[in-house]
Amino acid sequence: MEQRWTLGGWKKPQAAINNQEQWEESLASKGLLVVDVYQAWCGPCKTAVSLFRKIKNELGDDLLLFAVAEADSIDALDKYRGKCEPTFLFFAGGELVAVVRGANAPLLQKTILEQLEAEKKVLNQGQDRKVIKDETLLEEEEETSLVPPQTEDDELIPSGKSYTVAIIKPDAVAHGKADEIIMKIQEAGFEILANEEKTMTESEARDFYQHRAGEEHFQELIQFMSSGPCHVLIISKSGEEDVIPEWREFIGPTDVEIAKKEKPESLRAQYGTEVLYNAVHGSSDQEQATRELAFFFPTFQQQHQQMDDLSSKNPERTLALIRPDLLRDRKDEVLQSIRDAGFSIAMQKEVMLSEQQVEEFYSEHVNEDYFPAVKQQMTSGPVLALALVKEDAVKHWRTLLGPAKITDALNEAPESLRARFTSNEGEINQLHGSSSMTQAEREINFFFPLEKTLAAIKPDALEEHRDEIMERIQTAGFTISQIKETSLSREMAEEFYKEHKGKPFFEQLVDYMCRGPCLMMILSKENAVQEWRALMGPTDPTEAQTVAPDSLRSLFAKSILQNAVHGSSNEHHAVKKISFIFGDIDMDREINGDHGETQAESKTDEEVKPSEESNEIAALSENEADPQEEES
Ligand code: ATP
Ligand code: MG
Repeated sequence: MEQRWTLGGWKKPQAAINNQEQWEESLASKGLLVVDVYQAWCGPCKTAVSLFRKIKNELGDDLLLFAVAEADSIDALDKYRGKCEPTFLFFAGGELVAVVRGANAPLLQKTILEQLEAEKKVLNQGQDRKVIKDETLLEEEEETSLVPPQTEDDELIPSGKSYTVAIIKPDAVAHGKADEIIMKIQEAGFEILANEEKTMTESEARDFYQHRAGEEHFQELIQFMSSGPCHVLIISKSGEEDVIPEWREFIGPTDVEIAKKEKPESLRAQYGTEVLYNAVHGSSDQEQATRELAFFFPTFQQQHQQMDDLSSKNPERTLALIRPDLLRDRKDEVLQSIRDAGFSIAMQKEVMLSEQQVEEFYSEHVNEDYFPAVKQQMTSGPVLALALVKEDAVKHWRTLLGPAKITDALNEAPESLRARFTSNEGEINQLHGSSSMTQAEREINFFFPLEKTLAAIKPDALEEHRDEIMERIQTAGFTISQIKETSLSREMAEEFYKEHKGKPFFEQLVDYMCRGPCLMMILSKENAVQEWRALMGPTDPTEAQTVAPDSLRSLFAKSILQNAVHGSSNEHHAVKKISFIFGDIDMDREINGDHGETQAESKTDEEVKPSEESNEIAALSENEADPQEEES
């Protein structure tokens, strides 16, 4: 892709934006800019190229610009990395005005024409430009940062879907039929998840068709398949358990003559000329599809696997720590790498550890000579604790981290996180991971102990939406430790909300809270305070509807005053309000006695190898001789 931007338009229908600088330059241009954001492993969308060429020819409009941009090479596109589905971003005046997902030619065309019209009105008639946010991204961010992974992303992440590899063979491409075939594939309801134009070398073709090596026409087949460019596609179909039989049906019998007789509608009947030159290929079964996928798109499955893990039913958890120096300098980069590796972040908390807490966390190591240096680093600033979720999370995270000794990491695993995120060979490694499932649960419990919060369903919502709200509480995994229906007196309501005394809405708030009975609950969960607030959503329902459309307040609040539910705003308040509503209860008994064993014990125990653990921490403090070095 060497097309360059030229003044007055694009030489080709699309120009390539290769880096952040070109990105900013392109965004500054006048008119409507349509960008095909693509992933390195599948390339720009070929359907779009032909569509863009057509529109460009028809309109010849200088205000319409097309470009392709690889998500990985442009910082501004970091949120779009690793997405299977083609994504088209529309910019005008440097602002996002529309997004189209999927290689849906009719929708793309319609959006292009509409947005071009709209932008002309902005430029010529001074109308206001309608700027949007990419909602799908916002939702994804919410999900990954606050709540355990859900499976609703299925549209974006075709997890559990079946695939076939399809090839539009060199004969059809040479006859100029590729675009037409691609259109037909889409019209038939198949999704094209990747489309790569490729000329196979003879040896690649030989590898690809190795299972046919003994056949009579093998050499001819190899020559044909390497004779010119073909299009390699990954095909899927939503709602289809197994796309392979359907795809094979669609392309028709191998023998073109038979295809013409028996399946005249099939691709091979329409585009093939003889047995060998039968225009298209499809994997014959799931196993072959997997092999072919790995052959043409080596990183696709890996990315896919990670996405599947996110939505798998029984993912594992591990604890990760980002130590103070790294957290201060490169937090966002580290978090991005964690997400890129397919982990979801179920909980996160930035904490300033005391020396005592470090001693407790690393209790097995307090007597070692390296311990002072570790303690010094760990208390030099806040650490970020993350509960990471993925299938086999403990092992995957440790592999991703690489060796504990920075020198080893740099030599043996330069791609590992510890190697990538070090600034100094001698330093303490900046990332921690639990070494077994048992340890993971213990460490997660250390940073995210079972916590309690006071939750209330306010009078009007209790009357109207009790069941729906209770169901959401259950499915979100909260344990209800205590529950009671109470009608607050005026005095109690005033005391309950005493922090707001003097604010203009205070009287109304008290009126509202005493209007009828409230349902008061003590909810227990790891990170309960934050999690319940996340489930409630922002105080104001109009805000909730935009930033957390699935939240309780988005769904059930009537106004900023009558906002359906209450939740303590921090741990301190939680303790106070719980004792105000429920009296002085024994918090420890509440949590441990009733529900303490739920988390850790449901997991299969795994032995911690003591030697491995102590190596880990020993290496972590390699330069204990010079503790000042880590000081910030
Ligand atoms: P809560 O404490 O009820 O869980 P919150 O912490 O999200 O809600 P606060 O700022 O503590 O919000 O306000 C307490 C309550 O006061 C809100 O839930 C709402 O009922 C009411 N309230 C807050 N701001 C306003 C406002 N600007 N106008 C009217 N009522 C308001
Ligand atoms: Mg509050």
